[in-house]
Amino acid sequence: MSKNNHSMMQRDLAVLWHPCTQMKDHETLPLIPIKKGDGIYLYDYDGNRYMDAISSWWVNAFGHNNPVISKAVKDQVDQLEHVILAGFSHEPVIELSEQLVAITPPGLNRVFYADNGSSGIEVALKMSFHYWLNTGKPQKTRFITLKNSYHGETLGSLAVGDVSLFKDTYAPLIQDVITVASPDCYLRPDGMSWEEHSRNMFAHMEEALARHAGEVCAVIVEPLIQCAGNMRMYHPVYLRLLREACDRHGVHLIADEIAVGFGRSGTMFACEQANISPDFLCLSKALTGGYLPMCAVLTHEHIYQAFYDDYASLRGFLHSHSYTGNPLACAAALATLSIFKNDNVIEKNKVLAQKMSNATRHFSDHPHIAEVRQTGMILAIEMVKNKQTKEPFPWQERRGQLVFEYALRNGILLRPAGNVVYFLPPYIITPEQIDELARVTYAGIDLATR
Ligand SMILES: *Cc1c(COP(=O)(O)O)cnc(C)c1O
Repeated sequence: MSKNNHSMMQRDLAVLWHPCTQMKDHETLPLIPIKKGDGIYLYDYDGNRYMDAISSWWVNAFGHNNPVISKAVKDQVDQLEHVILAGFSHEPVIELSEQLVAITPPGLNRVFYADNGSSGIEVALKMSFHYWLNTGKPQKTRFITLKNSYHGETLGSLAVGDVSLFKDTYAPLIQDVITVASPDCYLRPDGMSWEEHSRNMFAHMEEALARHAGEVCAVIVEPLIQCAGNMRMYHPVYLRLLREACDRHGVHLIADEIAVGFGRSGTMFACEQANISPDFLCLSKALTGGYLPMCAVLTHEHIYQAFYDDYASLRGFLHSHSYTGNPLACAAALATLSIFKNDNVIEKNKVLAQKMSNATRHFSDHPHIAEVRQTGMILAIEMVKNKQTKEPFPWQERRGQLVFEYALRNGILLRPAGNVVYFLPPYIITPEQIDELARVTYAGIDLATR
C-alpha cells in the first residue's frame, strides 16, 4: 500500500487514541500524518508543508531537525543511551545540572529530574509538603493556586490547576485546593494599566495567605503567562508581591516555568522580570529543544538539607521515574543551552517579538478582536462575539477550530485555545514568515468570526 496522508490516517485511526482529542472529530477533520520536519516546517505524506507556529505544543525552541541538537543526540546514542540514576551518574546529567544551577535565579542550586512536566509538578508538590513534615509542620498539607491556571494532567498536578475543561470531570478524584482570583490583565477595568491591575489583584492572595498560611505548603503559579488558560498575562509586580508575602507567611513559592522558561517570556526565565527566586522552579518543554521529554525541578540547599539524614530516619525523598535524567534528553538539553549561549538568542528574540507586534498592529481594529496581547515570544489574539462588552463566542461554536482549519489549508499549523489564537513560534522564525503568519491568521479570524 502506498503511503499517503489518507492511508496513514486509516492505519492510525485503527489503533491510536490521541491526546486532548475527541476522536469522533476525525470523522470529519483530517488527521495530518507528518513525515518529516525541517526548521520551522513540517511535511506530510502528500507533500504539503506547514509552518509550525506553535512550536509543536510549545516544546520546539530552535526548529525541527536542528543540526546542533540532532548531532548531540546522535553522538550521545553511541556513548550511553540510558542508565539508572539512583546510585549511578553520568557526565551529561552532571554538566546539565551545573549549567541549570548557573543560569537560573540565585539560590536554586539543587536539581531533581522527572521525565515530563506533570511529573515535575508532582515532585515540587511532594517535596514542599515533605519539607514541612521534616521540619515539624505536618499540619501544612494544602496548596494555593490561581484561577485559570494549568499545571498538568496527572491527578496531583490537575488538582492545583483550574482549567475546568480538563479538571471538572475528575473532580471526585482530586485534592481540594485553595483557588485565588487571577491577576489576568484581560479582565482589568478599562483604562487601567497592567501593573495597577496586577497589584490590585494581589489583595486576594494576601487575604488567602493571611487566612490559610498555617495549613498551606506552597503557592504555585505560572509566572507572567497562563498559557493553557488561553494565554492570559499579568505584570511582574504580582510575582514580587507574592515572593515577599510567601516569605512573610512561611509558605513556599513554586514557579511553574514549564511553558514560559527558556526565553518564551522575553527573558531566559520569567521570574527574572520580577527579580525573584522561587523555592521550586519547574522547567520542561523547551528544555530539550523539543527533542525528548524531561523536567528539571530546582530548589534551594536548605530544602535539600531538610531531607539529608541517616537512612533509618526515613526523611529521604524516595521518589523516582524510570527515565530520570536520561542521557539522551540531557544531551539534547545541553545542545539547546549551547544555542542560547552561542547565538545571542534572547537579544535576537527582542527583534522578532517587536516584529510580531508590528505585524499584528492592525488586528485590534477588527470588530471581533477584543485584545492583542503579548509577552516576549508569545502573542495572543482574543476573539469575541461583542467587542464592547467582551462577551465571548459560545464555546460550542468552536470558532478557534475554524481558524485552525483555515490556517492548515494555507500551510500553517495554529492550534487556538478556545477563542484565543496565539503565535508561539520557534525562535528561528524569520520576519518574512511572521508576515505570512499574520496575514493568514487575520484572514482566518475574519472568516471564523462571521
Ligand atoms: C505543559 C505544561 C505542564 C505539563 O507538562 P507535561 O509535560 O505536558 O506533563 C505543566 N505546567 C505548564 C505551565 C505547562 O504548560
